[in-house]
Amino acid sequence: MKAIRTTCAYCGVGCGIAATVTGERELVIAGDPDHPANRGKLCSKGTHLGETLGLEGRLLYPEIGGKRAGWDKAVRHVARKFADTIRRHGPDSVAFYVSGQLLTEDYYAANKLMKGFIGSGNIDTNSRLCMSSAVAGHTRAFGEDVVPASYDDLDEADLIVLVGSNTAWCHPVVYQRIMDARATRGTKLVVIDPRRTETCEEADLHLPLRAGSDVALMNGLLAYCREAGVLDQDFLDAHVAAPEGFWEALEEGADLWSTAASCDLPPADLRAFYELFARTPRTVTLFSQGINQSIRGTDQVNAIVNVHLATGRIGKPGAAPFSITGQPNAMGGREVGGLASTLAAHRGFDAESIADVKRFWGAPRIAEKPGLKAVDLFRQVREGRIKALWVMATNPAVSLPDVAMVREALTACPFVLVSDCIADTDTSRYAHVKLPALGWGEKDGTVTNSERMISRQRALLPPPGEAKPDWWIVTQVARAMGWRDAFAYDRPADVYREHVRLSAYRNEGKRLFDIGGHAAISDSEYERMEPFRWGGTPFADGRFPTADGKARLIAVEQRPLDGTLPKWPLTLNTGRYRDHWHTMTRTGLSPKLSQHRREPLVEIHPLDAEEKGIGERDLVRVTTPQGESVFRASLGETQRRGEIFVPIHWTDRQSNGGRTGLLPQPLVDPHSGQPGFKATPARIEKLAVQWHGFLIARTVPDRIPAAYFAKVRVGQGWLVELAGTRDPAALAQALLPKGERVEVADPARGGTRIAVLEGGELGGRLSAALYITRSGRLPDREWLIAQLASAAPGPMELLAGRPAVPLPDRGPVVCVCFDVGMNTIVQAIAGQRLLSVEAVGAALSAGTNCGSCKPAIRRLIGETKEAANA
Ligand code: SF4
Repeated sequence: MKAIRTTCAYCGVGCGIAATVTGERELVIAGDPDHPANRGKLCSKGTHLGETLGLEGRLLYPEIGGKRAGWDKAVRHVARKFADTIRRHGPDSVAFYVSGQLLTEDYYAANKLMKGFIGSGNIDTNSRLCMSSAVAGHTRAFGEDVVPASYDDLDEADLIVLVGSNTAWCHPVVYQRIMDARATRGTKLVVIDPRRTETCEEADLHLPLRAGSDVALMNGLLAYCREAGVLDQDFLDAHVAAPEGFWEALEEGADLWSTAASCDLPPADLRAFYELFARTPRTVTLFSQGINQSIRGTDQVNAIVNVHLATGRIGKPGAAPFSITGQPNAMGGREVGGLASTLAAHRGFDAESIADVKRFWGAPRIAEKPGLKAVDLFRQVREGRIKALWVMATNPAVSLPDVAMVREALTACPFVLVSDCIADTDTSRYAHVKLPALGWGEKDGTVTNSERMISRQRALLPPPGEAKPDWWIVTQVARAMGWRDAFAYDRPADVYREHVRLSAYRNEGKRLFDIGGHAAISDSEYERMEPFRWGGTPFADGRFPTADGKARLIAVEQRPLDGTLPKWPLTLNTGRYRDHWHTMTRTGLSPKLSQHRREPLVEIHPLDAEEKGIGERDLVRVTTPQGESVFRASLGETQRRGEIFVPIHWTDRQSNGGRTGLLPQPLVDPHSGQPGFKATPARIEKLAVQWHGFLIARTVPDRIPAAYFAKVRVGQGWLVELAGTRDPAALAQALLPKGERVEVADPARGGTRIAVLEGGELGGRLSAALYITRSGRLPDREWLIAQLASAAPGPMELLAGRPAVPLPDRGPVVCVCFDVGMNTIVQAIAGQRLLSVEAVGAALSAGTNCGSCKPAIRRLIGETKEAANA
């Protein structure tokens, strides 16, 4: 069987995959050794994509009002709704909210329909939440949204600075590339992040700055470089313009001591970084959501870019600021104009661009101004100004800030259309019409990764049910609205060719985004297309796409962020886990990926926890001015004092806690409109519950009547963590299936243990087991989970929750590829004196497949050595 070359479904690294179809909806996944982005490597998420292809939970047929409908009827219905709304209320009464999960062809068709034919700018994308500050920062500095770096620069840098980026978890293959550069050329690594993440395990220096003080740190660096005489004055004179008073304003409070105080960093550490930066011309500063997701996001981006421009570290090998994106095709969306703030093909809303794009599309009424950015768009839905909304491939009822407002908006909106591959999402519950879209492995088109590399994503599996490509769905609706000729696409290659031609249309070197070389690409060439990067080495000639050809230094806001927010005892930060992706509609299907983190944790400094009487694994209510939700406590000095961290992934589907979307305030950066997810005032308190427990079961009901639950996929069923305040007897009634019951009560500790067997008590199969205690310990979950896969053990073992001969406790899983737990690794490190990640790999295989757990293994080696020396 021949492997099909495609790209990963998840992050902006854009790894190439070689997938071999081995059965009905079965694939063997391997890294594509010929893809330049990853050269055969994959992280844990990419490696386990094959576990996420089942049809469980898929939307397979169009639905109108919850009832199955044919495509013709559904398309006519949608077209009529949109057309009626536009006729009665104007083009700005409708909106599309789309996704970085769309392929470029899907994005192109949607953008063209909204901006060129409906005639409104009201199409925005969930990439607004991820990297729109980088877009605004690039545009301010360079005149165009161009990422001036590639992964090759990481191979050629002498210093890599990671700012606001847990690269080891969020872009693991890029992190491994950085590790390779360290091994082969001794590249130095500095991590600037309030949290001590696993990314810091390899760093030469970690600067745990105060949340929101990045501008102060970068301005201090620029002032230091100026003082040290390492500005590139020739480059500045020839290629960069600065606003009047820029240098004078920079000097205010940018001395080393003041900066260290602003950032709450030891001056010696800050000096060490500044000196290293000053003497290392080949420096890449890589940044992601820690920079972008701030109400100062655009200024933070420009503070980084300013330093690179002023030191001439741009347009050269191994020297550039590098914004790395979260989603697989956020960059493709930027190229087509899927953000409300751009028109199309890297063009804005200036008169010339409007006229050119209108002519190119043959557009009857083109948008003449930017549309509403994500948060404002949903506000306008709630206020009734937007009356018809199309949500494509995204879940704003979970992912936007102030999801209560978003849910109100979706409830109030007269017409909500959701096109998605998943049947039941928090958002689709509000839909009047649902249209089934293809998922990863079925789609066919192109994506662009963080380094501007365009790759093919190819179909591996036939479309399930009546699911269709997103570009096809948009095309059908556009045709039904009367624009048949403008949407006469029969295949994704047709859309791609038009997108390519628009990038070159009346470009004449004015914009770097020009892929016109592909204008005549045939269908078969499109099918065989190899990955290619547009833009070469941007700005290598010192020319920038501005009117005068010069880049701009940008005067940025230096006042501390905390002065602009209400005073609460803590600051809340949010982010991703290593093995989960966004709202877990895919990774949540994988038992392997679900092992790394089974519950939403709030990470707290031990002293902050102690002040509130919170212990490890207690349940904690996190409250912000916006809302509240419950998380499991995880204590560690990885957090700064006064700062807490929660993950973004949990939804109503998996838990009634962990609802991070309820917490951030809907405050946005004034330039980019990107929400400030990284610094929300917060407080915590221990949640008072009367009992804790867990359930393992082959199936679990949708409704789980407990004060707290979090359910996660395991090998043959589910694990549900539980806590409650009421009599758990009602819970047992609600959760346990019919069957033979064995049961024991422990009145002294308020404990109950119930196992349910199919096929009789002896020789039967375990269906479910519930363990509850008010004051005692609960059994180890792992052995019990394994019992779902085999004949049930004896009732005494089941009720004890352990085998007659106890097994070693391997601890929480670190290496998901080889199922190796933390305790196993620590024992091997201590017992066999394993002093390197490679030695652990040789002994246990851990870390030898995808390598995503290598930073965790390195941390365990450090901690074990430290404990031995203590
Ligand atoms: S780093 Fe992992 S998630 Fe990101 S594209 Fe590569 S394999 Fe996929």
